[in-house]
Amino acid sequence: MYPKLRLFIAGEWRSASSDMPVINPATEEEIGRLSCASLSDLDDALDAAIKGFEIWSRTSPRQRSDTILRAAALLRERQEEIAQSITLEHGKPLPQARLEVIRGAEFFEWDAGEAMRTYGRIIPAARGHKFSVHHQPIGVVAAFSPWNFPMSQPARKIAGALAAGCSIILKAAEETPAGAVHIAKAFEDAGLPPGVLNLVFGNPAEISSHLIPKDPIRLVAFTGSTAVGRHLTTMASENMTSVLMELGGHAPVIVCEDTDVEASGVSGAIRKMRNAGQVCTSPTRFFVHDDIFEDYSQAFVARVAATIVGNGMETGVEMGPLANERRVPALIALVEDARAKGATVATGGGRHGDRGYFFQPTVLLNVPEDAMIMQEEPFGPIAVLNPVTSLDHAIKQANSVPYGLAGYAFTNRADYIDRLIDEVEVGNLSINTLEASMPETPFGGVKSSGYGREGGTEGLDNYMIVKNVWHSAKIC
Ligand code: NAD
Repeated sequence: MYPKLRLFIAGEWRSASSDMPVINPATEEEIGRLSCASLSDLDDALDAAIKGFEIWSRTSPRQRSDTILRAAALLRERQEEIAQSITLEHGKPLPQARLEVIRGAEFFEWDAGEAMRTYGRIIPAARGHKFSVHHQPIGVVAAFSPWNFPMSQPARKIAGALAAGCSIILKAAEETPAGAVHIAKAFEDAGLPPGVLNLVFGNPAEISSHLIPKDPIRLVAFTGSTAVGRHLTTMASENMTSVLMELGGHAPVIVCEDTDVEASGVSGAIRKMRNAGQVCTSPTRFFVHDDIFEDYSQAFVARVAATIVGNGMETGVEMGPLANERRVPALIALVEDARAKGATVATGGGRHGDRGYFFQPTVLLNVPEDAMIMQEEPFGPIAVLNPVTSLDHAIKQANSVPYGLAGYAFTNRADYIDRLIDEVEVGNLSINTLEASMPETPFGGVKSSGYGREGGTEGLDNYMIVKNVWHSAKIC
C-alpha cells in the first residue's frame, strides 16, 4: 500500500546512497525508508531540469495541457491507494485524505486549462510600429513543499510550473513524501518528457542552499513557515531570483452579534479540528461579540470536546495525530504560556494518549494579548475564543498580527460586510464560511504571509516573465 520512496531525476527512479525512516505518526512505527539526495544527485537534477526546460518550454500549450490532464486522470483513478498512503504517513482521517487527492487533481485540471490562456496583449502604437506583450515561462523552478498536505501542496507547485512551460525540481517534505512520489509516477505514466519534473528529498537546508544560488534557477517557490521563507528569499535575492512565498497565517474569525450562534459555533469547532489544525488557513483567533460570547463559547467548546480522535485509518475518526513529534512540545508550550498569563483552558490542553503524536482538541478562553499564542501561529488543534465589544474592536484585533493569509467573519449585515472587505488585512476573506480557497480562486497572503498567488487566473503569473516587443516595420 505504501510506495517505494526514491528520487525521480531525468525521468528515472533512483535509490540514493543514504536514506531515512518515514514514521506513521499514529503508531510511531517505521513505514518506509526515504532516499536522500547527495550533492551529486542534486547536480544531476539540475542538469536534467535544464534539458527538460528546453523541451517543455517549446512544447505547445495544448500538448502540455493534455499531458497534465492525463496525469490528473491517473491520480483520480489511484485515489484510494494514494489516500491510504497519505493517512499512513500523515495521520489524517482517510476521508480527508481521499478529498485531498481529488483537490490535488483539481489543481492540475485548473492549471491545465490556464496553460492555454496565458494571453498577452497588443498596445496601440504609431503606424509602422507594433507593441505586443508576451508571457513566457520563467525557467527552471526550485520548489519546496511542506508536510501538512502531502498531495495537494506538491500538486499546487508542479501544476503551476508545468502549465506555464517551466521545468521543476521539487523537494517535497521528508515526513510525508508519498503524495509527491505518486504525482511523479502519474506524470511518468502520462508521458511527461524526462527532466521536466524532478523529485528530491534529503536535508532541506542543504538542498535549498545548493540549488537556490545556481544560475539556471529562476524561481523559488516555497510553502512553509515565515522564518524559513524569509531565509530562502534572502538567499534568492543574491541572484535577483524571483520568489513565490506561501507562508504562515494566524487566521482571525470575527463573529458578529447577528449570527446564528449555534450554527457558526459548531461549524467553527469542526473546521478548526480539520487536519488537526495543521493548515495555514486554519481558523484560530475567534473574536466574538460580547452579547453572544457565552452561548457561542458553549456551542463551540461542546463540539470541540466531542471530537473523535484516533488513528486516521479507523472509521469514524475525526482528527488524527500531529504529523510530527516536534509539534507536540511546541503546542504544550503555547497552552502553558497562555494559562500562566490568565487564559482559561476550556477543554483539552495536552498530549492525547501515550502512543503516537496526538494532541487534545483544545479551546482557550479569554486569552490576554501578551500570550504567545496571540502572535504565534499554533499550527495545531488549538482555538482561542476572546470577547470583543464592537466591529472596530474585532477588526483591530484581527489585524494585530504580522500575518495576513486567511480571515473569516460571520454576519449578514451589509454595513459590516462592506467594512470587513475594506479593512481586514488578508489575502483571502471568507464570510459565513470557513472555506478559504478553490483551484479557480487566487490564494496567497499579505504582510508576513508572503507574496505571489497560487490558483485562479493569477496562478501562472509567478511562473512566467512578461516580455514587451516593439516591432518597427522600417529601421528607425
Ligand atoms: P519549519 O519552519 O522547520 O519547516 C517548514 C517547512 O520548511 C518544512 O516542510 C521543512 O522541510 C521546510 N524547511 C525547513 N528549513 C528549510 C530550509 N532551510 N530550506 C528549505 N526548506 C526548509 O517548521 P515545521 O516545524 O516543519 O512547521 C512549523 C511551522 O511551519 C508552523 O508553525 C507553520 O507556521 C509552518 N508551516 C506552514 C505551512 C503552510 O501551509 N503555510 C506548512 C507547514 C508548516
